[in-house]
Amino acid sequence: MKRAIYPGSFDPLTFGHLDIIERSAKMVDELYVAVLRNNAKNPLFSVEERVSMIREFTSHIPNVRVSSFDGLTADYAKNMGATMIVRGLRAVTDFEYELQIAQTNHAINPDLDTIFLTTNVMYSYLSSTIVKEVASYGGDISKFVPEQIAGKMYEKYNINR
Ligand code: ADP
Repeated sequence: MKRAIYPGSFDPLTFGHLDIIERSAKMVDELYVAVLRNNAKNPLFSVEERVSMIREFTSHIPNVRVSSFDGLTADYAKNMGATMIVRGLRAVTDFEYELQIAQTNHAINPDLDTIFLTTNVMYSYLSSTIVKEVASYGGDISKFVPEQIAGKMYEKYNINR
């Protein structure tokens, strides 16, 4: 059984994340999308909200599970019996950081390897941070996130559209 985890903040889930989830789920038996409980960041959505949104928008993919975790990704992967971490690469700017994290995780847990999927060109510019920025000014985010998530974001920013 090949089990992978796809860790991240997902605050909120974007079409870029969904694309990585759909593609990587085809490569493994079980994919855990794992929402990181990171108290240092000031998130727009609670971990519970993020988990439930991801569940809703991945329910059509039978081998995808959604969970949350805190602590080290390498430890979480071990506890879950996962041997693979999935990450998405958008641009060179992602690479340096991702390489460092991947090598650290491998050093902590040698059974663990990170695979990188290159972003779909359609979503190469897309990040949760940018989507939040646009939404906070009432801009159109329909190309970036599913409609229901867009609605929830405008609600958080008290924007009537
Ligand atoms: P972080 O863990 O830095 O908070 P996110 O939760 O936004 O990052 O993203 C989780 C993972 O998804 C990261 O590997 C990130 O590179 C990847 N990702 C985010 N947006 C995209 C996108 N538009 N295309 C491909 N991969 C993406």
